[in-house]
Amino acid sequence: MVNYIIVTGGVISGLGKGITTASIGKLLQLHGYRVTAMKIDPYINYDAGTLRPTEHGEVWVTEDGGEIDQDLGHYERFLDINIPKYHNITTGQVYSAVIEKERKGKYLGKTVQPIPHVTDEIKKRIRRPAEESKLDFIIIEIGGTVGDYENVLFLEAVRQMKLEGDNMLYVHVTYVPTIETLGEQKTKPTQHSVKALREIGIQPDFIIARSEKPVDDVRRSKIALFCNVKEEDVISNPDIDNIYELPLVFEKQNLCEKILNKLNLRKKKNNLPEWEKFIKEVKKIKKKVKIGIVGKYFDIGAFKLFDSYISVIEAVKHAAWHNKVKPDIKWIDSKTFEKHPEKISMLKELDGIIVPGGFGLSGIEGKIATIKYARENNIPYLGLCLGMQLAVVEYARNVCGLEGANSAEIDKNTPYPVIDFIPEQIKFIRESRYGATMRLGAYPAVLKEGTLVRKLYGKKTVYERHRHRYEVNPKYVDLLEKNGIVFSGKSPDKVLMEFMELPNHRFFVATQAHPEFKSRPMKPSPPFDGLIKASIKK
Ligand code: GLN
Repeated sequence: MVNYIIVTGGVISGLGKGITTASIGKLLQLHGYRVTAMKIDPYINYDAGTLRPTEHGEVWVTEDGGEIDQDLGHYERFLDINIPKYHNITTGQVYSAVIEKERKGKYLGKTVQPIPHVTDEIKKRIRRPAEESKLDFIIIEIGGTVGDYENVLFLEAVRQMKLEGDNMLYVHVTYVPTIETLGEQKTKPTQHSVKALREIGIQPDFIIARSEKPVDDVRRSKIALFCNVKEEDVISNPDIDNIYELPLVFEKQNLCEKILNKLNLRKKKNNLPEWEKFIKEVKKIKKKVKIGIVGKYFDIGAFKLFDSYISVIEAVKHAAWHNKVKPDIKWIDSKTFEKHPEKISMLKELDGIIVPGGFGLSGIEGKIATIKYARENNIPYLGLCLGMQLAVVEYARNVCGLEGANSAEIDKNTPYPVIDFIPEQIKFIRESRYGATMRLGAYPAVLKEGTLVRKLYGKKTVYERHRHRYEVNPKYVDLLEKNGIVFSGKSPDKVLMEFMELPNHRFFVATQAHPEFKSRPMKPSPPFDGLIKASIKK
């Protein structure tokens, strides 16, 4: 029978609950269990595809084309598995399913209510992965913070599951702040958060205390007493430099064994040494490589947030570690070069440049100027989706002589729409159907023999994940190729340009896909690996 571990959050959001969830899963996996993870997002959006990145972080794309919460990315990276889109449950999905059933008369004259109809729908969705494959553990992270209105029905659903006989464990991740003027860790917020959880009827089995420094014995026993857990079940989760070390931090506190004991299970294997070795090797790295990420989704009020590019960051790290260097990531707002064109020469100090994915008009000319600089100054360049589209625009304008060339997304009236709508997208936009209508998920690309991209991947057909409405306009492909662009990867029907490169450049590779979504700590994504190798040489 499958075991469920429910992860809830307390006190504040942004505690790294996703990484905690992924780390618990990793630990169980390293000890021989089959694990997957799910994320519950209490918002009403059907999926994350329509959310602004600066508001909710990156939109993660699954192999099967889901646009979902970035936490699923952490689960995939830690667990090294592909997670399907139905592992992300939102309020929007649950309610729309319930309302649809109601309209179809499936509730037979009953009053349809949050309890039991909505909670039944939630439980059905949580139980689905175990029906579809053989699993020992499903770790379910419930988004939001205990005490919020919006996640109450999800908490109620997982409370009911225990009563119905499912094997359940509840883990509450809370924040233990250190008040500087007092110089002391305070447990009161945790006490209140657990109180709120118990009012809902959930007694946590473990408290995972996030804090700057490890939680000491005094705080530990206080949390235990007030939260009705054993002292040994208060697990410390202090700030660490490398998120991938967290499973090891938990292992030191015997978290895996404690979880298994509560479920009358034993460790089956010990695959920890490999993970330990990986972390140890990363810690030894001294040499740095300077990679500039030129984007625009940074500012939120007075703060800068980089969550919009989390998978790109992780992919850079994985590839850098693989090549025994530490990434020194420089964040560059492309709008800077629009206001101050002379500042473009600051790119000189970089070893490599990435222009990641993006939507909309702002910051575009700054990105094009960046690409031009990288091309002309032989700086290793990797373009991701929009980063490829703009590389084509730049080349069309400055090498092919197509003055005013642009992407139709940016300039509808451009004389040379070198990037244009994928034909089937036109009707979606005309009908205002924005949700889940992009070209989404994994698609094959056939790589051309003799190209750099083919060499990087070491195989002919590759599957990378996509999320876009525009493509290289097939009408311009011949002209672009004649002028020196090599389209090194195309869709099997040869209509879509999936990869491009410039042969006379140190490293100039771009792709319509988002290879960052498939990068894993010990298996870097080939284009990122190529970028780092070229950047080290520079
Ligand atoms: N906005 C572009 C498109 O829709 C690029 C998308 C992206 O970078 N993911 O095609």
